[in-house]
Amino acid sequence: MGICIKKALQEAASFLRRRGIAAPRREAEVMLAFLLGQGAAYLYAHGEKELSGELRGKYAVLLQRRGENVPLAYLTGEKEFMGLPFRVQAGVLIPRPETEHLVETALQWCRETFPQVARGQQLHILDLGTGCGNIAVSLAYFLPAASVLGVDCSAKALAVARLNAQKMGVAPRVHFFCGAFGTFFAYKRQRFHVVVANPPYVPRPELPVLPPEVQKEPSLALDGGEDGLAAYRQIFSCIQKFLFPGGLLALEVGANQAGAVLSLGRAAGLTGKTEIVPDLAGHERVVTFRAGQGRRAGHF
Ligand code: GLN
Repeated sequence: MGICIKKALQEAASFLRRRGIAAPRREAEVMLAFLLGQGAAYLYAHGEKELSGELRGKYAVLLQRRGENVPLAYLTGEKEFMGLPFRVQAGVLIPRPETEHLVETALQWCRETFPQVARGQQLHILDLGTGCGNIAVSLAYFLPAASVLGVDCSAKALAVARLNAQKMGVAPRVHFFCGAFGTFFAYKRQRFHVVVANPPYVPRPELPVLPPEVQKEPSLALDGGEDGLAAYRQIFSCIQKFLFPGGLLALEVGANQAGAVLSLGRAAGLTGKTEIVPDLAGHERVVTFRAGQGRRAGHF
């Protein structure tokens, strides 16, 4: 017997609800719309339309996998970030909405500090731990004068990041370095106006108690060492050599880490102006530092 869109959605939502998915109806819609190659509005406009047997089979497979806590973005292969449709796949961290604060912070600073970018000045930006490229590609997309270098030790992540740079039309201005932060620091000698990072910051003892879907994401992108701060220490140990005097270092931080990250940065010699930016939930989410002006004061 055939089954229409409306009925299929009802059944799917109740299946996902039984599996403990937090937004079962919305996710049921996203998956069906994805399979139909349509927007969600289509489902409402064509509720009585019958689904083919083949499509029902595909829908059942997606629902089953979602019920096993595979993240929705891995099933549809896409996640929106800064209003842009990023490709994602298993093995790559899924962009989080709170990371948009990091991008916004860097964007705002660039626009205030470089009002002259329209006149053709090149802005050099480094993104440490670039993953699927959501931060690097968004910055390049919204700052036409920016040239961005993304660093990641996962070749798999960088393959996806390259696709995203192409998809968003910024590939000529976004480049990648495949290697650990330490390798990059040892190999490269280049200064940047802005360095951004959303490094792995989950304290290792908390990894096993992360939500089941987050556990399907690469631990490489989450594991911040025993206290969650290992990647920050690594960044602070070298970063001043990579920033132009007066340049900006903007770091995403996890729950209750802002104070500790601020102290680590100051102890490492980043004694200029700092700022803590809260996210929409009021959590301290981004910490910024200004590189010392040193002898080359007035660079910008
Ligand atoms: N924000 C991620 C989470 O919710 C953690 C990402 C990271 O470690 N940078 O788990």
